[in-house]
Amino acid sequence: MSESEVLIIGGGISGLSTAWWLAQQGIGVEVWETAEHPGGKIQSTREAGYLSERSAGLLVNFRPQVDRLIQQAGLETRKQSRNDRLNRYVIHQGHLASVPMEIPAMAISPLWSWKGKLRMLAEILIPGGGSADESVARFITRRLGREILETAIDPFVTGTLASDPALASAQAVLPRLTALEQRYGSITLGMLINRVLKRRRANRAETFSFSGGMSDLVQSLASTPGIHLRTGLRATGIERIDGAWQVTGESAQGPHHTTTPQLIISTPADGAARLLGPLDRQLASLLDGIEYAPVAVLHMGLRRERIAHPLDGTGFLVPRREPLGFNGNLWMSNLFPGRAPEDHILLTSYLGGMRNPRQVEQTDQQMVTTLLTGLAPLLGIQGEPEYLRIDRHRRGLPLYHGDYLHRTREIRTLLTAHPGLHLCANYLGGVSVRERIHRGMQTARQIGERLRQPQSTHREDTGAAVTPIPIPTGSYIGTDRPGE
Ligand SMILES: Cc1cc2nc3c(=O)[nH]c(=O)nc-3n(C[C@H](O)[C@H](O)[C@H](O)COP(=O)(O)OP(=O)(O)OC[C@H]3O[C@@H](n4cnc5c(N)ncnc54)[C@H](O)[C@@H]3O)c2cc1C
Repeated sequence: MSESEVLIIGGGISGLSTAWWLAQQGIGVEVWETAEHPGGKIQSTREAGYLSERSAGLLVNFRPQVDRLIQQAGLETRKQSRNDRLNRYVIHQGHLASVPMEIPAMAISPLWSWKGKLRMLAEILIPGGGSADESVARFITRRLGREILETAIDPFVTGTLASDPALASAQAVLPRLTALEQRYGSITLGMLINRVLKRRRANRAETFSFSGGMSDLVQSLASTPGIHLRTGLRATGIERIDGAWQVTGESAQGPHHTTTPQLIISTPADGAARLLGPLDRQLASLLDGIEYAPVAVLHMGLRRERIAHPLDGTGFLVPRREPLGFNGNLWMSNLFPGRAPEDHILLTSYLGGMRNPRQVEQTDQQMVTTLLTGLAPLLGIQGEPEYLRIDRHRRGLPLYHGDYLHRTREIRTLLTAHPGLHLCANYLGGVSVRERIHRGMQTARQIGERLRQPQSTHREDTGAAVTPIPIPTGSYIGTDRPGE
């Protein structure tokens, strides 16, 4: 039997970043991770001279707190920033089309018809409206028109979030755009006002990874003094006894028990539901009802000379109306150095998601055939790849669909009955690594405040033991920031 001030179940980025923020406050924290290595979904693989990512390949950041963690965790020297001058592409009418990043370029872009551009301009005249449970598709069509939805928002939501714009909650996935409408009556007007008032973020978005890939981040957090990480240890049961949490676990060495006043569950939602089932059936059922999209990540290594395209960009996303069998393709060796051997290219493609959930069950050969059928003509690829690796995630990304906001509100209410119990994982408050770090900080701050209170106060108080769940930020691409 051991005791720690805080126990975190789950050593993915959610659990580890929360542990890191707690350690900065001098709070002793133990992390139980069922796998033999930390990081959860995040895992970089070095193989045959290629460096590939099992899930997150980059961090898009505009939050000063994330910068702080990177600096103080000693990761600044390993950071690799993306060249911002690289083009971003989408597939448009079967071809790669560059996405304009400035308003003058938008005006002449062939991505939208004149009618579509005028519809976008008319946004400022459209009265505010919409409901709390409005979908991304309805919100964008209502405000900016169908063309923007189909060409820009659909590939972003399906490609980066594996989601479905017709089902995804606008407030959960595009919180900043919906907030601009609520506050100013119009997205365009809100952006203009913010620009005039210079309410732009001090930090512009920066996209980066690390020289050893995203694993550098989780490894560095996991080895922070004050964090006691126990890998190969699976939490199996939770009980509330005498005002504290008793947690049982299993490892190769046998059963483990610990008692803690503050317990954070940072596993995926189904894992949290299993642990909480005997304690609170209603809470467990809400957690169990959170859907996940299956995603496959296919890494392909080729000699540079076998690709005709200049590869002058970061890669491309695929709108649903384009008949390609995958959601997007990142040119990883263009984004960051050291991802492929000299004179070779690493292309990473995303398949499945809500667009084609069963694709993840296909054989490797079926996936490669689907991918090359679409990719070879687009990039002018000749011959077979020299390197191939497929990572499958059957429960890849949580979906902020349908009644998501209502569900999370109920979860928050039910949590108030369990003082000292916190949920901090990517099904609450954003899936991106950036938002995970940010939420970790909020959870750690709240626990720090609680632990500094006199013992009697925090044992009796039930109301505030809830991880705050304001409107979440679903994306890991910084396109939905107001004032930009
Ligand atoms: C294909 C893909 C690409 C992505 N790309 C990006 C990207 O480029 N940029 C970005 O910002 N985000 C990206 N994301 C999102 C991001 O990677 C994830 O949202 C994030 O890593 C999830 O972190 P987490 O800690 O919440 O969950 P997880 O990583 O799932 O961690 C949960 C941990 O809990 C452990 N666990 C479960 N049950 C128990 C138990 N009973 N006891 C002990 N431990 C347990 C698990 O083993 C796991 O390690 C991507 C996601 C996917 C799937």
